[in-house]
Amino acid sequence: MTTGVEGATRWPTITKDVAAFPVQPNLLDYEAARRDFSWDQARQALSGLPGGRGLNIAYEAVDRHAAGPNAGKEALRFVRADGSTTSLSYGDLAVQSGRFAAVLRSLGVGRGERVFSLLGRSPELYTAVLGTFKTGSVFCPLFSAFGPEPVRQRLHLGAGRALVTTKALYRKKVAPVRDTLPELRFVLLVDAAGAPEPGTLDLAELLAGADPAGADLAGDIADTQPEDMALLHFTSGTTGTPKGAIHVHDAVAAHYATGRFALDLHPDDIYWCTADPGWVTGMSYGIIAPLVHGVTAIVDQEELDADRWYRILAEQRVTVWYTAPTALRMLMKAGAERAAGHDLSALRFVASVGEPLNPEAVVWGKDVFGLPVHDNWWQTETGGIMIANYPAMPIRPGSMGRPLPGIEAALVARDADGKPVVRDGGVQLVTEPDVMGELALRPGWPSMFRGYLNEEERYRRCFAGGWYLTGDLAKRDADGYFWFVGRGDDVIKSSGHLIGPFEVESCLMEHPAVAEAGVIGVPDAVAGEVVKAFVELRPGNEATEDLQLDIIGFARKRLGAAVAPRLLEFTANLPKTRSGKILRRLLKARELGLPEGDLSTLETPQGHEPEPREGGQP
Ligand code: ATP
Ligand code: MG
Repeated sequence: MTTGVEGATRWPTITKDVAAFPVQPNLLDYEAARRDFSWDQARQALSGLPGGRGLNIAYEAVDRHAAGPNAGKEALRFVRADGSTTSLSYGDLAVQSGRFAAVLRSLGVGRGERVFSLLGRSPELYTAVLGTFKTGSVFCPLFSAFGPEPVRQRLHLGAGRALVTTKALYRKKVAPVRDTLPELRFVLLVDAAGAPEPGTLDLAELLAGADPAGADLAGDIADTQPEDMALLHFTSGTTGTPKGAIHVHDAVAAHYATGRFALDLHPDDIYWCTADPGWVTGMSYGIIAPLVHGVTAIVDQEELDADRWYRILAEQRVTVWYTAPTALRMLMKAGAERAAGHDLSALRFVASVGEPLNPEAVVWGKDVFGLPVHDNWWQTETGGIMIANYPAMPIRPGSMGRPLPGIEAALVARDADGKPVVRDGGVQLVTEPDVMGELALRPGWPSMFRGYLNEEERYRRCFAGGWYLTGDLAKRDADGYFWFVGRGDDVIKSSGHLIGPFEVESCLMEHPAVAEAGVIGVPDAVAGEVVKAFVELRPGNEATEDLQLDIIGFARKRLGAAVAPRLLEFTANLPKTRSGKILRRLLKARELGLPEGDLSTLETPQGHEPEPREGGQP
């Protein structure tokens, strides 16, 4: 077998016995599915607005189900702190989002204008998202744990017209900066309880006054067209200042198709996406894809906690689970025995996104769930899953899988400065197997971003020779599986080798004492750069010099002296984004005493009180 990373030779391919699956996967024959696929044909699964008036995500996600036999079906099931649940049916969602739309209309919030949210995962968030789509306004979700400055920065960049939030969040994060936001006309408090703060409105009161008769009629949905802007999503800020990616209503075609192939959604599924809608995963796959498929989606209102999560998987009888490496590593750290006693037998598919998924975590899934974890890759910019491991396809642990039907992926050769190599007016593609290049995608899929808000030039720089350049480096093996190497900015150049931090981090995690690792390059007079690892230990291990040497020795044996870390430092907390991604640029800046750059998405920024960690995603 060819492999893309050194470590993978030690992880055998995981084969599947498809005949024994409880349901037949939607994608059985990968080659045939790719051959037969077209986006136009994928759009056939959508309804379009009645009378051919256009396309609206909310109609596809909610109202078309509410108009038929699924009206009473549970659409969203919220799990409260005490484990009790409350549900909204497709019919409820249609009415309540219709009322929210009526409120926006009564305030005069217009098409294309931005409606922001700063909310926990409460029902009001979900009805606000769908109601905003219905009016043709543009939704921009903010993660509720952001501090005042990141909130201000995004509201300002996105010229937010309305904001839906709570009293406490408003007081703490918006009121102090409100006077710097002249565009922000309306602040709607979900819990004003008849006494809104000065300068805010009581949403419940406005909703009660909204015309309920007309609220659930599809005729009330604006006649949005496929190319109309629907969503503004800020990127995670892992490599620098977050960018505002623009998405359009047509994206729903990709949410549908990828939900079908990469998450294998079937109508009877109980599906749980752990990402917060403040990040693109929580929107595309926590709201849109499951609702468009008419399944029941679980929403946990609390934060990541191993026992709670196992309990939810078991008690809610979750069948399809979409989570993130940071959450899986946390469960691994907590120990597999924590899963014992929970009946996880309903689960049939587990997927992960957001960061590279270490082979160790893929295989760990088999021990705990009886199912391997299926890694998939995408970005805020791509709006939907682009490369995935599918239920019916063997997994090569450490590989992010193969491109979705309808997606053409390639590797672009890079020069010594990291720029794409241009030949004859086009870019030079890497065609040999197992050779690194910049991961590139052929534009044209529906959930592709249509721009970075107010950053035309930055957007244009993402394209060359007819390809969208993702900024990530990868390899492809002879059988077409893609292997993530690292972000372009994170790759380490040491004595003529290009080293991807993922490979080194995955190897370190195989050491029994290591829970998590972040790897960077630090300047070296001889080698150019040498590899330095920051390591978080599993509970019960002491940070001694002996252990340090033991881990370095362990990595050397597996990776060779050229790739293994030369330097290793123990740390109690790797810096991460609020969506759980290791911030290697910050490790590096701190190591070199350089400016720390944009820290708006840092998990516990200095000067802010620590907030609960989000278990989410990209
Ligand atoms: P910013 O663009 O602001 O630096 P970000 O790239 O982390 O932040 P997202 O769009 O949330 O913002 O994340 C997408 C990135 O996450 C991808 O480009 C890739 O680097 C990483 N990623 C996502 N999924 C995977 C995966 N399965 N394997 C490896 N990397 C992944
Ligand atoms: Mg990015």
